[in-house]
Amino acid sequence: MKIAILGDIHSNLEALTAVMADTREQEVTEYLCVGDIVGYNANPRECLEIVRQELKAVSVKGNHDEYIASDMPLTGFNPIAARAVEWQRNQLTAEERKYLGELPFKLQVKGVTLVHATLDSPSGWTYVTDKWAAEASFSYQLSSICFYGHTHIPLAFTRAGRVKVSLYSSLSLKLGTKYFINVGSVGQPRDGDPRAAYALYDTDESTVELRRVEYDIAKAQEKVIQAGLPERLAARLEIGR
Ligand code: ZN
Repeated sequence: MKIAILGDIHSNLEALTAVMADTREQEVTEYLCVGDIVGYNANPRECLEIVRQELKAVSVKGNHDEYIASDMPLTGFNPIAARAVEWQRNQLTAEERKYLGELPFKLQVKGVTLVHATLDSPSGWTYVTDKWAAEASFSYQLSSICFYGHTHIPLAFTRAGRVKVSLYSSLSLKLGTKYFINVGSVGQPRDGDPRAAYALYDTDESTVELRRVEYDIAKAQEKVIQAGLPERLAARLEIGR
């Protein structure tokens, strides 16, 4: 079975449709999502509709999903971020926001664990970027593989005794080793590679591959500008930061 794990789609329809074309070519049959379906870019409704209806992806909640689902005041946000969150809230129906708000923080599904940020504090929205943070998360990880998102950086942490970390393009999974794998970002990559990213888990071969997919960045940028969203959100797409 081939499972695609998508994360940090962030309302980027052009990136999501390009990823879907690639998953079809790869003969993917199941979809999982590590959260942040919405936020930042210009097509929150369309992306949410695809994740729910077309891909029937099982998803956990990201921090943007939570901010946009709720009516909490955005006092802690900088004005640009607050305006972007407000815009996304206004695009979605009450039912769509309720759906986002009810997504679980973590989930066991298809033999793996899904979480947006960390397993030690799934609703705390801290970042796993080093071995110490990964170690804390591993201590709460029951399955051998956990997929996560949030940092938009495709790092793989492995624990077989000591914790090791690497940027990865493909992994051969070994018995007795635990994996905490970031699937990269579909809609706003931040590792310097502007192509959309997702992880492809082949359960028969026991491999995880990081796929990178070209998409129409200019079109996604144009939509961000036309929607009146902050220009910086458009600019960062082409540099992958
Ligand atoms: Zn994100």
